[in-house]
Amino acid sequence: MTTTVLSPHDSSDSVQAPVAPSADAGPWESAQSQLASAVRTLGYSSGLHQMLARPRRELSVSIPLRRDDGSVEILTGYRVQHNFSRGPAKGGLRYSPEVSLDEVRALAMWMTWKCALLDVPYGGAKGGITIDPRNYSQQELERVTRRYTSEILPVIGPEKDIPAPDIGTDEQTMAWMMDTYSVNVGYTVPGVVTGKPVSVGGSLGRASATSRGVVHVALAALRQAGITPAGSTAAVQGFGKVGAGAAEFLAEAGVAVVAVGDQYGAIYNAAGLEIKALTEHVRETGSVVGFEGSEAIGSEELLELEVDLLVPAAVEGVLHGGNAGRVRAKVIVEGANGPTTAAADSVFRENGVLVVPDILANAGGVIVSYFEWVQGNQAYWWTAAEVEERLEQRMLAAWENVLAVAARRGLSLREAATVTAVERVAEAHLTRGLYP
Ligand code: NAD
Repeated sequence: MTTTVLSPHDSSDSVQAPVAPSADAGPWESAQSQLASAVRTLGYSSGLHQMLARPRRELSVSIPLRRDDGSVEILTGYRVQHNFSRGPAKGGLRYSPEVSLDEVRALAMWMTWKCALLDVPYGGAKGGITIDPRNYSQQELERVTRRYTSEILPVIGPEKDIPAPDIGTDEQTMAWMMDTYSVNVGYTVPGVVTGKPVSVGGSLGRASATSRGVVHVALAALRQAGITPAGSTAAVQGFGKVGAGAAEFLAEAGVAVVAVGDQYGAIYNAAGLEIKALTEHVRETGSVVGFEGSEAIGSEELLELEVDLLVPAAVEGVLHGGNAGRVRAKVIVEGANGPTTAAADSVFRENGVLVVPDILANAGGVIVSYFEWVQGNQAYWWTAAEVEERLEQRMLAAWENVLAVAARRGLSLREAATVTAVERVAEAHLTRGLYP
């Protein structure tokens, strides 16, 4: 039998075995290995596997920047669109010195699975610029953003691909993107980006959505592990858009957040940190370090504390083969994308640590981005309470579904989430058929 890309299954011996990632593979290898494992569970053909493994489009652009001192620097940016089978591509824009094409590819693939898992009508994409935003003025960042937007303009739009904030970008970045796109097409297009300021069509509740979603599933996961959230303890790595909100909502739920960290260091207080005061300290100083009423600890130490809940909410690959065996948290909820390498995942599985995967745990952002896009397309705005209620419903429904699939198929939560998502994307692809 000839295997075509449109046949979901072929004889089991032609189904590809998972790529065995090296002990601590990078994000693209991790993403490929997770897909390969889902494909094996689903028994898909190698043609369908390749279709899901390869991004539909990858764009690399040079971004000439005129610096404030008059010199010119050429930066590199990317936009990767992994899949469109279920709708326009959707995904964040990252400004970080670590950005590479492989990282953006992995993040785009994870967006495809996340959107499918949460049943929002999008495919996955991601963008990035290799830049350390701390070394540039606001005016320089505005010029970088506008030039990058105009370079990728042909492939974005409310029906094509809709960027949103990620590491190193924020509401203001989205406002510049929306303005640049709108000026180029000749009319205002709020739906080209999400995570915009409310004054230009952003949604109430978007800024806190990822953190709220993380905490909805974190509280459910603690209960699942037999731990009562009120009075339990947590450590949070990353105190940015995701981590700071997660710490705040955990504290509101009665969880003692005993440690938080950022790229400059980490702090600890056994009785629980005062999160509102800490947020104020970070606003004033730019870091959690030096917060009154806390002691300094090492960034690695934070990940290995004896706590009920660990929320990595910073960058990829922080939980790896080298430290996973020393992690003492009972539950890990991935606020960041890809914080756990495949090697660490196996260790956590052996040690009975409950890991709630990124594509479920941090999906609150894309859910409310979807709500923002819906509201913008209808020019009809919801209240903050409506947004938050619908967010909670979707997060908890997805959590219950992943739990049920994991139990039924005997999979980890990550495997169950990936299998569910991959199956939905494959079904859309097979139903549409292959053109031409
Ligand atoms: P951010 O730029 O607002 O904050 C990042 C935080 O991580 C900062 O506190 C920074 O100091 C810290 N950090 C960076 N490198 C670190 C390191 N090596 N060790 C410890 N801390 C470090 O970014 P964000 O939007 O909060 O994103 C964080 C993670 O969450 C990323 O993986 C991102 O892809 C993911 N995410 C974000 C959203 C969103 O809506 N913003 C949605 C889904 C997933």
